[in-house]
Amino acid sequence: MQTRRLDPSDAGLATAAEILRDGGRVAFPTETVYGLGADARQEAAVAGIYAAKGRPSFNPLIVHLPDLEAAGQVAEVTPLAERLAGAFWPGALTLVLPLRAGAGISPLVTAGLDTVAIRVPAHPVARALLEAFGGPVAAPSANPSGQVSPTRADHVLQGLDGRIEAVLDGGACPVGVESTIVSLIGDAPRLLRPGGVTLEALEAALGQPVPEGGPAGAQPTAPGQLASHYAPEAAVRLNVTEPGAEEIWLGFGPECAGALLSLSETGDLGEAAAALFHALRAVDALAEGRGIAVAPVPEIGLGRAINDRLRRAAAPRD
Ligand code: AMP
Ligand code: MG
Repeated sequence: MQTRRLDPSDAGLATAAEILRDGGRVAFPTETVYGLGADARQEAAVAGIYAAKGRPSFNPLIVHLPDLEAAGQVAEVTPLAERLAGAFWPGALTLVLPLRAGAGISPLVTAGLDTVAIRVPAHPVARALLEAFGGPVAAPSANPSGQVSPTRADHVLQGLDGRIEAVLDGGACPVGVESTIVSLIGDAPRLLRPGGVTLEALEAALGQPVPEGGPAGAQPTAPGQLASHYAPEAAVRLNVTEPGAEEIWLGFGPECAGALLSLSETGDLGEAAAALFHALRAVDALAEGRGIAVAPVPEIGLGRAINDRLRRAAAPRD
């Protein structure tokens, strides 16, 4: 299969929407990372996402929709969901909600659960694609399962060229880390994954703490939650202020003058999130047998999402 690179013109978007209607896969930019989209109602199309990524099918996918009204056709929108949607949609927040029976979402999307993860993206190309297509788009990140997430069309092609029908090239993703996932199943909201919307902002909007983790007894539900993920080929060591001779140093902040590359020389967490996955790919390509040593990143704001991804990148591999 030849993977087409489409520009986000009217013609490119019309082609992308047609591919989705025909049950094909289109990678597209969002404000977080590039997603690998397919029609969430077509079983074979969704199966095609799992096949292209080599992703285990017990891991559910996020459904992308244009607005809260469309979300209400797929899921039960609770008052808390409305409040969070009002504060953060369109944007980098995914809500896990009760699935509406008869919504027509393929059970492969939800991994057979009676809940569904929904996001309303803000990126203009993602929004234009949703409008041109006119239906729910299931999309995980557009990379082979377990590898570093893609924030540019080139990253998508590095992992999936020849395995998907097309990629819409919308340039670099501005947020750079995946969405924050909040479950509204059960009696209180839970943070399932830190991401582009900070925990501080969530808690301010809700006026209550949002504890981490699923309800008691819930199994880990997706690759982004598996211990080893986002993994470069080189070994990764974290919180390094003095790198070894056989390590490439990835810096953060003004104290890392000797670093080969920096996530943000000024210590700006937004800049670091946007740079993270491209920087991991870049140092990995330069490693040649050396390890990657990453400078400490503070565990506040977007630093939580950055550290979450870095911990998984550094975790022992299976
Ligand atoms: P990814 O598509 O790789 O960003 O991963 C999708 C994420 O959505 C995973 O981390 C899942 O944990 C989460 N997710 C999707 N659907 C559900 C659901 N019904 N319940 C809990 N988590 C979900
Ligand atoms: Mg992913």
